[in-house]
Parts: sequence; C-alpha cells; structure tokens
Amino acid sequence: MIVVGGGAAGFTAALAARECGASVVLLEKGEQVGGTTRKAGVWIWVPNNPFLRGGGVEDPKRPALQYMARLARPHVYDPASPTCGLPLEEYRLIETFYDEAWHAVELLTRMGALQPHHRPDIPDYYAELPEDERPYGRVIMPQPRSRPTGGTGLEFVEALEGAARACGIPIHTSCRALKLIEEDGRVVGVAADERGRERTFRARGGVVFASGGFTHNRELMLQSFAFPLLHGAAAPSNEGDFVSIASRVGARLANMGCAWMAPIQLEQALTPEQARSNASITEIHGDSAIIVNRDGRRVVNEKAMYNDLTQAFFAWDGVYGGYPNARLFLIYDDATARLCGDDATGNPILPVDAEAPHILSAPTFSDLAAALDRRLQALGAAAAGVRLAPDFAVTLERTVERFNEYALAGADPEFHRGEKAIERFFSGPTRPGNDRNPTMHPFEPAGPYHAMILAPGTLDTKGGPMIDAGARIVGSDGHAIPGLFGAGNCVASPSGQAYWAGGATVGLAITYGRIAGLGAASLAGDH
Ligand SMILES: Cc1cc2nc3c(=O)[nH]c(=O)nc-3n(C[C@H](O)[C@H](O)[C@H](O)COP(=O)(O)OP(=O)(O)OC[C@H]3O[C@@H](n4cnc5c(N)ncnc54)[C@H](O)[C@@H]3O)c2cc1C
Repeated sequence: MIVVGGGAAGFTAALAARECGASVVLLEKGEQVGGTTRKAGVWIWVPNNPFLRGGGVEDPKRPALQYMARLARPHVYDPASPTCGLPLEEYRLIETFYDEAWHAVELLTRMGALQPHHRPDIPDYYAELPEDERPYGRVIMPQPRSRPTGGTGLEFVEALEGAARACGIPIHTSCRALKLIEEDGRVVGVAADERGRERTFRARGGVVFASGGFTHNRELMLQSFAFPLLHGAAAPSNEGDFVSIASRVGARLANMGCAWMAPIQLEQALTPEQARSNASITEIHGDSAIIVNRDGRRVVNEKAMYNDLTQAFFAWDGVYGGYPNARLFLIYDDATARLCGDDATGNPILPVDAEAPHILSAPTFSDLAAALDRRLQALGAAAAGVRLAPDFAVTLERTVERFNEYALAGADPEFHRGEKAIERFFSGPTRPGNDRNPTMHPFEPAGPYHAMILAPGTLDTKGGPMIDAGARIVGSDGHAIPGLFGAGNCVASPSGQAYWAGGATVGLAITYGRIAGLGAASLAGDH
C-alpha cells in the first residue's frame, strides 16, 4: 500500500500496515519528512487511556462523547439524543476515536516510535464544563527530552522515521503526489513528481493520504474562511494538495472553514520558514501583558487558550465596515520581559536582550503607539487595512489603569482572565503580590513598554475530504471511494470546530492513521 505524507498520521498508517504484513511505500513532498508534526509539542490526547484506569480512575464513554460532541457542534448538541445531536456518521467518528485512540499509542510503542509518558497534571481545555467528567489525565507525551536541542516534535519524527526504516519501509522524499490512478472504479495507485521526474506507484492494497492541511494555499484559505485567516505555522509543503486530488475522484468535502488556530506574531509569520517556525503563540506568559485592538481596548481574555483567543480577531463591525480586530497588539511592561522572556516555543515574550525587530519598545505608551502605527503603515497589505485610531494612546492608558485595578482586586469582570484551569497552567512565571489571581499584576508605572503585532493564524487547517469511521474517503454519493483512505489534517476532522484539549490533533492523526493503514493493508488480500 501507499502512504502519502510523512507526518504523525502518515507514519502511523505506514507502521500499522507494515505490522500486519503489508509492503508499504511512503511518499513525502518535502526534502525531509516530518511536516507540521516536526514542530509539535507532541501532547497526545487519549481519552480512556489505561494510565487513568491504572490509577483507579474511570473515563466513561458517554460523558466523554458528550464533551466532544458539545464542543464539535455546539449549535446542534443535544445531550438527550443517542448521537448527542450529531449526524450519525459524525457521532461514529468521535466514538471510534474514544474506542481506538489508545490502540494507536500501543502500536507506536510496540514499533519503537513512542515511549508514552502520562501527564496527570494537564487539564482539558474546557475542564470546567459539566460534561467533562475526567478533566485531567488524558494527555500523553513522549518521554521527556533526551537532549537539550531540537525539540519534542523533531525527536518524535526521528523516532517515527527510525521505526519505519527499521521495518523496511522505503521513504521517497521530494516526491509529491499529483493524482490518483483509478481502475474499474477503484483507486490503485498514485502518480507523483519525484525530483522533477514523473513516477507511478501502484498498490494492491489501498492508498492512504496523510498530506496535512492547506495553510499555505492562499487561494484555498481565502475561499474557505470568510474571516481574515491567511497565515500559519504549518509545514510550508502543506498546500492542500489532497483537496484537488480527491475532488477529482468525487470526494465530498467538509469542515473547510475549520482550523486548529493560534494567534501568530505577524512579522515572524512573514519571514522565511526558519524564523517562522516560532511564530505561533500557544501560551502568553506574563502577568502584566494585555492584548488590545486598534482603539486601545482589551477585546479578549489574554490567557484564553490559543484556539479560543484567535476567535477575537474575527469580530465583524458593520460601522467600521470590516474586521477591525484583524490585527491586535500585545502590550507588556519591562518587568514581564525580564521575568518571562525566554525562547520557549509558543511564548511570544523574548528575553530583553534578544534581537527581535518585530518587538517594538518605547519609554511611554504614546511613543509606543506612534511606533506601532508606523510599523502598521510599513507593513502595507499585511496590516489587513488596520491602522491605530487617533486616540489609541489615551485609550490604552485608561485600559492599563483599569487592568491594574483588576489585578489588584484579583478579578477581571470583563473577560474573566485566569478563571480556568488551563489558563493558569499556561500562564508562565508570576510575581509575588498577585496571589489572588496569579495571571494579573499591575503594569509598572514607568516604561519601557513593549509591543508586537498579532494576527490570527493556524497550526494547520482541518477541512478536506470526509472520512467514515474506517478512515475511508467518502464520495459525493455518500459511499466510500474504494481503495482511498485519509487521516490527519488533510481530511475533515472528526473534531468539527472543537479543540478539545492539548494533543487532540496528534491524537486524532495517529488514531485515524492507524485505522487507515489497517484498512489499506487489508485490501491487499482482496485481489
Ligand atoms: C508550534 C506547534 C505546536 C504544536 N503542538 C502540538 C501538540 O503538542 N499536540 C498536538 O496534538 N498537536 C500539536 N500541533 C499540531 C500538530 O503538529 C499537527 O496538527 C499534526 O502534527 C499534523 O499531523 P499530520 O500527519 O496530519 O500532518 P503533517 O505532520 O503536517 O504531515 C503532512 C506531510 O504531508 C506532506 N505532503 C503534503 N502534500 C503532499 C503531497 N502532495 N505528496 C506527498 N507528501 C505531501 C507534507 O510535506 C508533510 O510532511 C502543533 C503545531 C504547531 C505548529
């Protein structure tokens, strides 16, 4: 069988098929394998995992599915319905995820690609919801880093690649799948471009696509999202190739307007790939740090988890005639920079002495405002039409005064900052004096102050061809397209609009990757 894409989903599919005896070939468009998985923190969300059960804690199925369904499609969720209000096929997808996720972890462990490390201390992203009967302990990670450089994602990819090579799976890099080969109504192979040469790969078993999302296909991003979402930290080779490839064989598309979202440091996102890798913001450290809009007002709970935080950029304003929050501004004081500045992935606050032209610094808020507005002007179209309102600096000063009062009182009546478990988990170091709410501390009365421009971004998109619970691609007639499977961010995610918890994306990728690999391998015996 053939696997297209060398990330978490693709390698898991390849290893699952190989373990049950199929011969497998893996095609990867990039010069190296890994895709967006290479950048991941590799939290893996695994409901009903045996670490929980071993600790004497149950993670019963019905409430877990209710939690997932409520967040996936809040507007149709119905706790009394047998499918929680979801269409039956969507309910089956989350049910299968609950049933099968641990088997994917077991597979990767057996194949030497993962040594699971349980994190009982990590809360789900909506741990406070009544449906979340098991709010802690569903996250699994690879064993902590074995070396100081690199990163968890890189180590995970190396382990996946090592396991694949160890069991004899050939890996073709710089090999881009272009189209499917069909015979008698069944997908039997892939035509690809390998280093400029056209090649055909044929499969007796099936073909599994695991080619990531479409973050770097600007046209598809514009067509899919009505709101201003154009940037992201996904692997640059994730250009949504599977959307057009699968459409040509009649696949049904879904969730095209959904993404795993995170704010992005705009100017970092516009730089070449290497610098861009740290552009995604997944945890804003710092207690004297706020996010304001072009008016100088706070518009969001700054500690909200990244996918929720990103929603703030999309507010439509009919008087403004557009999306005034398409660009927002992270403002923080020097104490925050000194305390929280580090190079950790996901935290935008860098050490004070870091060379970072995208961070603007000034002694007063009015000087900072002037610098920000000049930068917006210089950015041209990348500023998405946003310029600072004339009274931005005055409003910002009032906003900071009000924030300081909230910090002293330990409560944020406007945005409820710091009230959720996950916000406190992601908040970073804190100072004495704000024991009532460790996520807030009054700003220092004198500068320097610092700022950067934020834009909405993706970790990657999660819309594409629909799958059924067997990871088979569903055609426009509602039937599976014979021979074609998919998993990970290249297919319509079973999570719908939800980001249930850290690790939900890799959790789904490996669960459906394994199912796709087994399905494709089982076809090899059919003829
Ligand atoms: C900074 C950051 C941190 C993250 N942390 C986490 C985390 O801790 N936990 C978590 O669950 N998720 C995390 N994510 C998200 C997670 O990394 C991805 O959702 C996941 O790795 C996607 O896996 P995938 O296999 O679907 O795709 P990818 O890993 O993107 O792999 C797809 C591969 O397909 C290849 N490809 C594309 N088109 C073709 C083609 N035509 N032919 C051949 N190959 C092709 C690509 O080059 C790529 O290598 C994070 C993301 C980022 C950016």
